[in-house]
Amino acid sequence: MNDPTVPSAPSAPSASSASSASSAAPGRRRVLRGALALAGAVALPPLVATGSAVAAPPTGSAVAVRRFGRYEVLALLDAHGPFPGTRQAAFPGATAADWERARRLDPAAFGTGDTWELDFRCYAVRRPGGRVTLVDTGIGPVGSPASGWAPVPGKLPAVLARAGIAPADVEAVVLTHLHEDHYGWSVTPEGVPVFPNARYLVQHAEVAALGPTRTARTYVVEPLLGAGRLDEVDGRTVLSGRGRPGGAVTLLPTPGHTPGHQSVLVEGGGDRLLVTGDVLVHAVQLASPAVGYRYEADPATARRSREQLLDDARRSGAVLATAHLNRPFVRPWAVEAATG
Ligand SMILES: [Zn+2]
Repeated sequence: MNDPTVPSAPSAPSASSASSASSAAPGRRRVLRGALALAGAVALPPLVATGSAVAAPPTGSAVAVRRFGRYEVLALLDAHGPFPGTRQAAFPGATAADWERARRLDPAAFGTGDTWELDFRCYAVRRPGGRVTLVDTGIGPVGSPASGWAPVPGKLPAVLARAGIAPADVEAVVLTHLHEDHYGWSVTPEGVPVFPNARYLVQHAEVAALGPTRTARTYVVEPLLGAGRLDEVDGRTVLSGRGRPGGAVTLLPTPGHTPGHQSVLVEGGGDRLLVTGDVLVHAVQLASPAVGYRYEADPATARRSREQLLDDARRSGAVLATAHLNRPFVRPWAVEAATG
Protein backbone atom coordinates (compact mmCIF):
# COMPACT_ATOMS: atom_id res chain seq x y z
CA MET A 1 0.00 0.00 0.00
CA ASN A 2 1.51 3.28 -1.06
CA ASP A 3 -1.51 5.47 -0.56
CA PRO A 4 -1.21 7.02 2.91
CA THR A 5 -4.94 7.63 3.02
CA VAL A 6 -5.64 3.91 2.87
CA PRO A 7 -6.28 2.67 6.39
CA SER A 8 -3.96 -0.04 7.58
CA ALA A 9 -5.63 -1.33 10.72
CA PRO A 10 -5.70 -3.91 12.05
CA SER A 11 -2.50 -5.58 11.11
CA ALA A 12 -1.65 -4.23 7.73
CA PRO A 13 1.99 -4.33 6.66
CA SER A 14 3.86 -2.18 9.11
CA ALA A 15 6.29 -0.58 6.68
CA SER A 16 3.66 1.39 4.84
CA SER A 17 1.63 2.54 7.80
CA ALA A 18 4.61 3.42 9.96
CA SER A 19 6.44 5.25 7.24
CA SER A 20 3.31 7.10 6.26
CA ALA A 21 2.36 8.10 9.80
CA SER A 22 4.25 11.38 9.70
CA SER A 23 2.58 12.38 6.47
CA ALA A 24 -0.85 11.00 7.34
CA ALA A 25 -3.83 12.62 5.72
CA PRO A 26 -6.04 14.88 7.84
CA GLY A 27 -8.66 12.15 8.00
CA ARG A 28 -6.27 9.81 9.70
CA ARG A 29 -5.24 12.48 12.19
CA ARG A 30 -8.89 12.97 13.10
CA VAL A 31 -9.34 9.25 13.57
CA LEU A 32 -6.31 9.07 15.81
CA ARG A 33 -7.42 11.96 18.02
CA GLY A 34 -10.86 10.44 18.40
CA ALA A 35 -9.38 7.10 19.26
CA LEU A 36 -7.07 8.62 21.85
CA ALA A 37 -9.98 10.35 23.51
CA LEU A 38 -11.87 7.08 23.59
CA ALA A 39 -8.95 5.14 25.02
CA GLY A 40 -8.43 7.75 27.69
CA ALA A 41 -12.05 7.50 28.78
CA VAL A 42 -11.98 3.74 29.37
CA ALA A 43 -11.46 2.92 33.04
CA LEU A 44 -10.34 -0.51 34.16
CA PRO A 45 -13.35 -2.42 35.46
CA PRO A 46 -13.11 -5.30 37.92
CA LEU A 47 -11.77 -8.68 36.93
CA VAL A 48 -14.45 -10.75 35.24
CA ALA A 49 -14.56 -14.53 35.60
CA THR A 50 -16.59 -16.27 32.93
CA GLY A 51 -17.94 -19.76 33.00
CA SER A 52 -20.83 -20.05 30.59
CA ALA A 53 -20.67 -21.78 27.22
CA VAL A 54 -20.66 -18.41 25.49
CA ALA A 55 -18.73 -16.08 27.72
CA ALA A 56 -19.39 -12.50 26.77
CA PRO A 57 -18.31 -9.88 29.28
CA PRO A 58 -19.24 -6.40 28.10
CA THR A 59 -16.91 -4.42 25.92
CA GLY A 60 -14.31 -2.69 28.03
CA SER A 61 -13.72 -5.50 30.54
CA ALA A 62 -9.99 -5.37 30.94
CA VAL A 63 -9.47 -8.93 32.13
CA ALA A 64 -11.54 -12.07 31.64
CA VAL A 65 -10.51 -15.51 32.80
CA ARG A 66 -11.32 -19.08 31.83
CA ARG A 67 -9.78 -22.28 33.09
CA PHE A 68 -8.74 -25.21 30.89
CA GLY A 69 -7.53 -27.96 33.21
CA ARG A 70 -4.20 -26.86 34.63
CA TYR A 71 -4.11 -23.74 32.49
CA GLU A 72 -5.73 -20.42 33.25
CA VAL A 73 -6.34 -18.31 30.15
CA LEU A 74 -6.64 -14.58 30.68
CA ALA A 75 -7.96 -12.21 28.05
CA LEU A 76 -6.21 -8.84 28.40
CA LEU A 77 -7.73 -5.81 26.72
CA ASP A 78 -5.01 -3.47 25.51
CA ALA A 79 -7.30 -0.99 23.74
CA HIS A 80 -10.57 -0.39 21.95
CA GLY A 81 -11.21 1.99 19.10
CA PRO A 82 -12.55 2.63 15.63
CA PHE A 83 -11.14 1.19 12.43
CA PRO A 84 -9.94 4.05 10.21
CA GLY A 85 -12.13 3.14 7.27
CA THR A 86 -15.44 1.56 6.44
CA ARG A 87 -16.22 -2.05 7.18
CA GLN A 88 -17.48 -2.72 3.68
CA ALA A 89 -14.15 -1.53 2.23
CA ALA A 90 -12.29 -3.79 4.63
CA PHE A 91 -14.43 -6.83 3.72
CA PRO A 92 -15.57 -6.14 0.16
CA GLY A 93 -16.91 -9.66 -0.32
CA ALA A 94 -19.32 -9.59 2.61
CA THR A 95 -23.03 -9.68 1.78
CA ALA A 96 -25.93 -8.13 3.68
CA ALA A 97 -26.73 -11.59 5.07
CA ASP A 98 -23.11 -11.97 6.26
CA TRP A 99 -23.29 -8.62 8.05
CA GLU A 100 -26.59 -9.58 9.65
CA ARG A 101 -25.10 -12.78 11.06
CA ALA A 102 -21.99 -10.91 12.17
CA ARG A 103 -24.11 -8.36 14.01
CA ARG A 104 -25.66 -11.15 16.07
CA LEU A 105 -22.21 -12.55 16.92
CA ASP A 106 -20.54 -9.24 17.82
CA PRO A 107 -23.04 -6.36 18.02
CA ALA A 108 -20.46 -4.01 19.56
CA ALA A 109 -18.44 -4.09 16.32
CA PHE A 110 -21.14 -2.03 14.64
CA GLY A 111 -20.95 1.70 15.26
CA THR A 112 -22.88 4.35 13.43
CA GLY A 113 -23.15 3.99 9.67
CA ASP A 114 -20.56 1.77 8.04
CA THR A 115 -18.02 1.92 10.86
CA TRP A 116 -16.15 -0.88 12.59
CA GLU A 117 -15.40 -0.80 16.31
CA LEU A 118 -12.79 -3.23 17.51
CA ASP A 119 -10.85 -4.42 20.51
CA PHE A 120 -7.09 -4.91 20.54
CA ARG A 121 -6.58 -7.88 22.83
CA CYS A 122 -3.77 -10.07 24.08
CA TYR A 123 -3.98 -13.33 26.01
CA ALA A 124 -1.99 -14.89 28.82
CA VAL A 125 -1.79 -18.59 29.61
CA ARG A 126 -0.88 -19.11 33.27
CA ARG A 127 0.43 -22.44 34.47
CA PRO A 128 0.45 -23.72 38.05
CA GLY A 129 3.20 -21.88 39.86
CA GLY A 130 2.45 -18.65 38.07
CA ARG A 131 4.57 -19.07 34.95
CA VAL A 132 3.00 -17.18 32.08
CA THR A 133 2.99 -17.37 28.29
CA LEU A 134 1.79 -14.11 26.78
CA VAL A 135 0.23 -14.25 23.31
CA ASP A 136 0.77 -10.95 21.48
CA THR A 137 1.63 -7.62 23.04
CA GLY A 138 -0.90 -5.19 21.60
CA ILE A 139 -0.55 -1.72 20.14
CA GLY A 140 2.03 -0.40 22.57
CA PRO A 141 2.75 3.04 23.99
CA VAL A 142 2.57 6.46 22.41
CA GLY A 143 5.24 6.50 19.74
CA SER A 144 4.99 2.78 18.95
CA PRO A 145 4.73 1.82 15.27
CA ALA A 146 0.94 1.42 15.60
CA SER A 147 0.63 5.05 16.68
CA GLY A 148 -0.14 6.13 13.13
CA TRP A 149 -3.62 4.63 13.29
CA ALA A 150 -4.31 2.72 16.51
CA PRO A 151 -5.69 4.16 19.78
CA VAL A 152 -2.38 4.38 21.63
CA PRO A 153 -1.45 4.18 24.39
CA GLY A 154 -2.58 0.63 25.00
CA LYS A 155 -3.15 -0.40 28.60
CA LEU A 156 -1.50 -3.81 28.64
CA PRO A 157 1.03 -3.06 31.42
CA ALA A 158 -1.74 -1.87 33.78
CA VAL A 159 -4.00 -4.75 32.77
CA LEU A 160 -1.24 -7.30 33.43
CA ALA A 161 -0.71 -5.77 36.86
CA ARG A 162 -4.45 -6.01 37.55
CA ALA A 163 -4.28 -9.69 36.62
CA GLY A 164 -1.41 -10.22 39.06
CA ILE A 165 1.21 -10.75 36.36
CA ALA A 166 4.54 -8.99 36.71
CA PRO A 167 6.73 -8.57 33.60
CA ALA A 168 9.26 -10.93 35.19
CA ASP A 169 6.60 -13.68 35.46
CA VAL A 170 6.36 -13.97 31.69
CA GLU A 171 8.58 -16.80 30.48
CA ALA A 172 7.45 -16.78 26.85
CA VAL A 173 5.91 -14.24 24.50
CA VAL A 174 4.26 -15.75 21.43
CA LEU A 175 3.89 -13.29 18.58
CA THR A 176 1.14 -14.54 16.29
CA HIS A 177 2.60 -12.31 13.60
CA LEU A 178 4.72 -9.22 13.12
CA HIS A 179 2.09 -6.55 12.59
CA GLU A 180 2.33 -3.47 14.70
CA ASP A 181 -0.92 -3.97 16.64
CA HIS A 182 0.41 -7.32 17.89
CA TYR A 183 3.98 -6.54 18.94
CA GLY A 184 3.59 -3.03 20.44
CA TRP A 185 4.61 -3.85 24.03
CA SER A 186 7.35 -6.36 23.13
CA VAL A 187 10.19 -3.87 23.46
CA THR A 188 10.39 -0.29 24.66
CA PRO A 189 10.83 2.44 22.03
CA GLU A 190 14.51 2.27 23.01
CA GLY A 191 14.63 -1.41 22.05
CA VAL A 192 14.76 -3.00 25.52
CA PRO A 193 12.68 -6.18 25.98
CA VAL A 194 9.65 -5.35 28.15
CA PHE A 195 9.55 -8.88 29.63
CA PRO A 196 13.02 -9.41 31.04
CA ASN A 197 12.87 -13.19 31.48
CA ALA A 198 10.95 -14.10 28.34
CA ARG A 199 11.93 -15.72 25.13
CA TYR A 200 9.95 -14.38 22.19
CA LEU A 201 8.57 -16.98 19.79
CA VAL A 202 7.76 -16.24 16.18
CA GLN A 203 7.59 -18.45 13.12
CA HIS A 204 10.73 -18.47 11.00
CA ALA A 205 8.66 -17.81 7.87
CA GLU A 206 7.38 -14.59 9.42
CA VAL A 207 10.85 -13.22 10.04
CA ALA A 208 12.19 -14.47 6.71
CA ALA A 209 9.49 -12.57 4.83
CA LEU A 210 10.46 -9.22 6.31
CA GLY A 211 12.49 -6.92 4.13
CA PRO A 212 15.60 -5.31 5.66
CA THR A 213 13.90 -1.97 6.23
CA ARG A 214 10.54 -3.14 7.45
CA THR A 215 9.52 -1.50 10.71
CA ALA A 216 8.91 -4.86 12.35
CA ARG A 217 12.52 -5.83 11.65
CA THR A 218 14.09 -2.64 12.92
CA TYR A 219 11.69 -2.00 15.82
CA VAL A 220 11.27 -5.47 17.30
CA VAL A 221 13.22 -8.27 15.53
CA GLU A 222 16.67 -6.69 15.62
CA PRO A 223 16.44 -5.57 19.28
CA LEU A 224 15.22 -9.02 20.33
CA LEU A 225 17.97 -10.72 18.32
CA GLY A 226 20.52 -8.35 19.86
CA ALA A 227 19.28 -9.25 23.34
CA GLY A 228 19.41 -12.96 22.50
CA ARG A 229 15.67 -13.31 23.13
CA LEU A 230 14.19 -14.20 19.75
CA ASP A 231 13.37 -17.86 19.09
CA GLU A 232 12.31 -18.61 15.54
CA VAL A 233 10.20 -21.75 15.46
CA ASP A 234 9.33 -23.73 12.37
CA GLY A 235 5.87 -25.19 12.05
CA ARG A 236 3.74 -26.86 14.70
CA THR A 237 5.51 -26.58 18.05
CA VAL A 238 4.50 -27.91 21.47
CA LEU A 239 5.28 -25.19 23.96
CA SER A 240 4.11 -26.78 27.20
CA GLY A 241 2.74 -30.08 28.43
CA ARG A 242 4.39 -32.35 25.87
CA GLY A 243 3.56 -35.96 26.67
CA ARG A 244 1.82 -35.06 29.91
CA PRO A 245 -1.77 -35.79 30.79
CA GLY A 246 -3.71 -32.70 31.69
CA GLY A 247 -3.21 -30.63 28.63
CA ALA A 248 -0.79 -28.81 26.37
CA VAL A 249 -0.07 -25.49 24.70
CA THR A 250 0.79 -25.80 21.00
CA LEU A 251 1.74 -23.30 18.32
CA LEU A 252 -0.07 -23.91 15.03
CA PRO A 253 0.99 -22.36 11.71
CA THR A 254 -1.98 -20.52 10.18
CA PRO A 255 -0.42 -18.57 7.28
CA GLY A 256 -2.07 -16.17 4.89
CA HIS A 257 -2.82 -13.02 6.87
CA THR A 258 0.98 -12.89 6.94
CA PRO A 259 3.45 -15.48 5.62
CA GLY A 260 4.33 -16.92 9.04
CA HIS A 261 1.14 -16.26 10.99
CA GLN A 262 0.55 -18.67 13.88
CA SER A 263 -2.25 -19.45 16.31
CA VAL A 264 -2.12 -21.05 19.76
CA LEU A 265 -4.05 -24.13 20.88
CA VAL A 266 -4.64 -24.63 24.61
CA GLU A 267 -5.93 -28.04 25.65
CA GLY A 268 -6.92 -28.87 29.18
CA GLY A 269 -9.73 -30.26 31.28
CA GLY A 270 -11.24 -31.95 28.24
CA ASP A 271 -11.75 -28.60 26.53
CA ARG A 272 -9.92 -26.65 23.84
CA LEU A 273 -9.26 -22.98 23.21
CA LEU A 274 -7.76 -21.43 20.10
CA VAL A 275 -6.04 -18.06 20.28
CA THR A 276 -6.65 -17.18 16.67
CA GLY A 277 -4.49 -14.11 16.13
CA ASP A 278 -5.69 -12.47 12.93
CA VAL A 279 -6.92 -15.61 11.17
CA LEU A 280 -10.18 -13.71 11.51
CA VAL A 281 -10.35 -10.04 12.41
CA HIS A 282 -14.13 -9.42 12.38
CA ALA A 283 -17.19 -11.50 13.22
CA VAL A 284 -18.19 -11.32 9.57
CA GLN A 285 -15.40 -13.84 8.92
CA LEU A 286 -16.85 -16.04 11.62
CA ALA A 287 -20.26 -15.76 10.03
CA SER A 288 -18.79 -16.49 6.61
CA PRO A 289 -15.20 -17.80 6.66
CA ALA A 290 -14.90 -17.31 2.89
CA VAL A 291 -15.01 -13.53 3.37
CA GLY A 292 -11.53 -12.09 2.97
CA TYR A 293 -10.01 -9.12 4.77
CA ARG A 294 -8.62 -6.56 2.36
CA TYR A 295 -5.15 -6.49 3.91
CA GLU A 296 -4.35 -10.18 3.91
CA ALA A 297 -0.90 -10.89 2.43
CA ASP A 298 -2.12 -14.02 0.60
CA PRO A 299 -5.93 -14.08 0.44
CA ALA A 300 -6.28 -17.66 -0.84
CA THR A 301 -3.95 -19.05 1.84
CA ALA A 302 -5.60 -16.90 4.50
CA ARG A 303 -8.99 -18.27 3.53
CA ARG A 304 -7.72 -21.85 3.66
CA SER A 305 -6.22 -21.30 7.10
CA ARG A 306 -9.41 -19.64 8.37
CA GLU A 307 -11.73 -22.32 7.01
CA GLN A 308 -9.55 -25.12 8.35
CA LEU A 309 -9.12 -23.58 11.79
CA LEU A 310 -12.82 -22.81 12.15
CA ASP A 311 -13.78 -26.24 10.89
CA ASP A 312 -11.49 -27.89 13.43
CA ALA A 313 -12.81 -25.61 16.16
CA ARG A 314 -16.41 -26.35 15.28
CA ARG A 315 -15.88 -30.11 15.24
CA SER A 316 -14.11 -30.07 18.61
CA GLY A 317 -16.39 -27.45 20.15
CA ALA A 318 -13.41 -25.21 20.89
CA VAL A 319 -13.59 -21.75 22.38
CA LEU A 320 -12.17 -19.00 20.17
CA ALA A 321 -10.02 -16.27 21.67
CA THR A 322 -9.69 -13.52 19.09
CA ALA A 323 -7.69 -10.30 19.01
CA HIS A 324 -10.26 -7.96 17.53
CA LEU A 325 -13.79 -9.14 18.30
CA ASN A 326 -15.41 -7.15 21.09
CA ARG A 327 -15.69 -10.13 23.40
CA PRO A 328 -12.80 -12.18 24.68
CA PHE A 329 -14.14 -15.72 24.38
CA VAL A 330 -16.51 -16.90 21.67
CA ARG A 331 -18.06 -20.30 21.10
CA PRO A 332 -20.50 -19.65 18.26
CA TRP A 333 -21.19 -23.35 17.80
CA ALA A 334 -22.85 -23.32 21.26
CA VAL A 335 -25.05 -20.41 20.12
CA GLU A 336 -26.02 -22.31 17.02
CA ALA A 337 -26.85 -25.41 19.04
CA ALA A 338 -28.92 -23.36 21.48
CA THR A 339 -30.79 -21.38 18.86
CA GLY A 340 -31.05 -24.01 16.15
ZN1 LIG B 1 -4.47 -7.34 14.27
